[in-house]
Formats: sequence, structure tokens, C-alpha cells
Amino acid sequence: MAAGAAGLLLPRAFAAGRPGARDADVIVVGAGLAGLQAALLLQEGGLDVLVLEGSSRIGGRVWSLDNVPGRPEAGGAEIAPGYARMHSLVQRLGNIELAGWMQYQGNQGFAILDEGRLGSLEDWKKGAAASRFSEQERARFGPMGPFGVALGYLPRPNPLRDLDSWLDKGFAPLDMPLDDYLRKQGASEEALRFAVPRVAADSVHAMSTLAQLRSARFSEAMGAMDGLQIFAQGTSRVPEGMAALLRRAVRLRTRVTGLRTGREGAEVALADGSKLRAGHVVCTVPLPVLRRLRIDPALPAPVAQAVRNLPYSTAMSIFFAIREPFWEQDGLPESTWSCGRFGRAFVRRSPRGEHLWFYKSGAAAVPYRAMAPAQLMKVATRELHEARPSTVGRIEATFAVNWSTSPWTLGHLASRGPGDISRHGNDFATPHGNIHFAGEHSSVMMLGMEGALESGERAAIDILKELV
Ligand SMILES: Cc1cc2nc3c(=O)[nH]c(=O)nc-3n(C[C@H](O)[C@H](O)[C@H](O)COP(=O)(O)OP(=O)(O)OC[C@H]3O[C@@H](n4cnc5c(N)ncnc54)[C@H](O)[C@@H]3O)c2cc1C
Repeated sequence: MAAGAAGLLLPRAFAAGRPGARDADVIVVGAGLAGLQAALLLQEGGLDVLVLEGSSRIGGRVWSLDNVPGRPEAGGAEIAPGYARMHSLVQRLGNIELAGWMQYQGNQGFAILDEGRLGSLEDWKKGAAASRFSEQERARFGPMGPFGVALGYLPRPNPLRDLDSWLDKGFAPLDMPLDDYLRKQGASEEALRFAVPRVAADSVHAMSTLAQLRSARFSEAMGAMDGLQIFAQGTSRVPEGMAALLRRAVRLRTRVTGLRTGREGAEVALADGSKLRAGHVVCTVPLPVLRRLRIDPALPAPVAQAVRNLPYSTAMSIFFAIREPFWEQDGLPESTWSCGRFGRAFVRRSPRGEHLWFYKSGAAAVPYRAMAPAQLMKVATRELHEARPSTVGRIEATFAVNWSTSPWTLGHLASRGPGDISRHGNDFATPHGNIHFAGEHSSVMMLGMEGALESGERAAIDILKELV
């Protein structure tokens, strides 16, 4: 939409601003997907928008490591057919090529590492499983073996009919610890032990059953399993393409330390001590970062509590170049899964190359939470060599990302613990005067990258609605 035409929607005084008084009509904090989506929509609404980004790059938790061997994705990578906003962006940006996820994934199975022993899933089923799982639970092993059992006790069909049903008060009884719920339905302790890597929280107990059902509903609705796609030239091409559509360049290395809202509009305090003024601010920083911002006046108690309490999960990725196909040496599948602190190691392929992605998330990641990337690379190399001796001399650590120590995230992704949905709903999305909040933690219908886009869209629409 031409900016001029859309600008007719706005009161002249706002669209033009008061010369000298404001640095922009709207300041957006954070150049991740949420911030860029908000900025583009506001610009299309005829507003003058300035995006501030603390780090030295665009994309936030979308980060294609273009200079690392195999060119891995450090953050968001896979999109599903139902990602309507993302697909529409791909069309709009024009030069973005998608590739089928499955066709690059080579041998799909995984070797299983259980209590220090490595083997094929088939051998594990004949050995360890026979003594530890009841016959009924063994019958529940699907392609994911023991990792698929516990979540199979969730109700089917999913009681959440719509993508936003998780916010219906009627489902509050399901806002309880996931392990307690699954145990009540008959899940054994062994099945729960293997559920760890399947849950986007720091333990199965720390996850709300209702949040897990929300995530399952989202996957069903997106058609996630059938048609996952990746970005042939890297996911970062999307936020970079979005930023290139903005009239004002994103201001990088500009750390925001505080936000103020008042009758005149909003003010943004920067780490260098300067201040910027705008009519409105859209703040998209991850929740653990938001907790550290000075907000004046303070957020209303329920919102402040929601911001303070929502758990953020832990995760880190260590990437390796594959010098030789180590799986040909031990005859096992390429990837290795465990339910312990080892985590999972996937061989990943894309048109960008091949690499080994050693991923620790949730409970597996917690003991490593404070480790710097260089130390993570050392520890991960040792763990891989010990667990899978065929990797010795055949892999080489190239890069590590610890989302918990990164000052721009201080965690991995928002999760919801037992009671969080009943207590806080989606309070994180409530505007505070002229400060609006967005970011993946505040989406309603969607999750992941599509959720971030949805949240930016919502914040932009809220501002535009105020102005017409
Ligand atoms: C390892 C990993 C794998 C993932 N895989 C997938 C996947 O396959 N599919 C999927 O859909 N989703 C995936 N996701 C989730 C998806 O990447 C995120 O939901 C989404 O990118 C979040 O976007 P956002 O804009 O909300 O936040 P962010 O991308 O975190 O953006 C926030 C921005 O704010 C900036 N910022 C922070 N503090 C300040 C400050 N003080 N001042 C100024 N700027 C600041 C940050 O640098 C950042 O650029 C994955 C995430 C991770 C981490």
C-alpha cells in the first residue's frame, strides 16, 4: 500500500508529528520478526517508524550462520503450510526460495543413548525397553519409540477446538503440571523420563498441560508434520528483506534501557544516556530482557506480575562440521537422542550444506545454562566423543549459541507453567499508555516465528486503531 494513500487514514497532526519534538511517530524496540512486522504495518499505515536494535544484526532469534561451515540455522528454521503470514512475506519479498525439509534429512531414524549405552532403537526395544516398560506402553512405541509414549496420554481429539481456546476459562482445570496429568492418565515414570525432550519447558513438571495442548493444537492446525519447509538461502533472508522495505534504516547497536509513557507520547532511554521521543513505542524484547527495562510509570500490578513470572526455557546449540560420515563407522542412524543431559545431536542438511547440530533444550540444558560458548564447544565435543566414539576425529566444533547468556534474549522461548494461563492469560499484550508490547511470548493464535509475526501485527493494529 502506498504510504501516502494510507496516511490519509491518520489525523494530520499525528501523521506529520510536531517538528523537532519527536524522533518518529512510532519507535519499535527490537529488529526480530515481531518488531519488523509491526514496523512494516505502521509504515504502511502512513507513520514514520524508527526501529532500534541492541545487537549488531537484524533478525533476533532468526539467525542464519552464513560464515559457519554447513551454514547452520541458530534459531527459527522450519515453517509449516499454515504459516500464512510467513508465506505471504515470502511472496512479497520475492527472492526467497523455500525447500522441503524432509527431502534433506537423509536417514530419518535416531540412535538412542540411554544411561550411557548407545544403540539402535530396535536393539533398545528388545533389551532395555522389555524390562522397563509394560506391554501396554511398549505397544504405544511409534516411530519416536519411548520419546513418543507419554504425550500419547493427552486427550484425543484435542479438546481445544480453536487456536485461541487455551484462553477459555473453562479449560482452567487443565492448567496443571503436565507430569501429574499424564501420570493420572496412566503414564509410567519411564514414559515421563523420555518426555523431557518433547516439552518446551525446563522440566515436564514445569509445563502446563493446557500449554502443551495449545502447542499440539497449533501443530495440528499448521499441518506441521506434512509439509515442513526451510529457507533455501537461510531464514535470515526474511528479516533482512523486511528491514530493507523500511524507509528508515534499522538503528543497530542501540540498546534500550528504559521506556516512559505520558500525555505527550512515549520516551525511550538508551544505554548511551540519550533519549528518543515518539507518539507510541512497540517493545518486542524477550520477557527476561523486558524485566530489566526501567518502565515509568511502573506497569500495573497484574501485568508486572505476568512479566516477572512467566518462565523462559533454556536451550543451547553447538554446531560441528562433519569431516567424515561417522555413522558409516558405527552403522547407526545419523542422529542421536537421549532423555538425559546429553540432549540430542541431529545431522542437518539443507541446500546450504551439512552439519551436526548438538542441541540441549529444557531439562537437558539447565546444567549448562551459564556456560560461555567457548566452554560449551569443549564440553560438547567431549560428550559426543564419549557417547559416540565414531565421532572422534570426524567432527569439529565450529560455533555455539547459548540463548540464556545472550544479553538480547537471556533465555530461549516463553513457556507457561502450571497456573500461568489461569493467572495471567495473555496480559503481556496489554498496552501501558503509549507503550505496546509484542514478541513471541504475547501471541494468541500462533507460536514460533508465525506467533512473533502475529504479535507484531496486533501491536501495529492497536496503534492504528487509536489513530483513525
Ligand atoms: C533455537 C531455536 C529454534 C527455533 N526454531 C523454530 C522453528 O523451527 N520454527 C518456528 O516457527 N520458530 C522457531 N523458533 C522460534 C522463533 O525463532 C521465535 O519465536 C521468533 O524468532 C521470535 O521473534 P521475536 O521478534 O518475538 O523475538 P526476537 O527475535 O528475540 O527479537 C527481539 C529483538 O530485540 C532485540 N533486543 C533485545 N534487547 C534489546 C534492548 N535492550 N534494546 C534494543 N533491542 C533489544 C534483540 O536483539 C532481538 O533482535 C526457534 C527459536 C530458537 C531460539
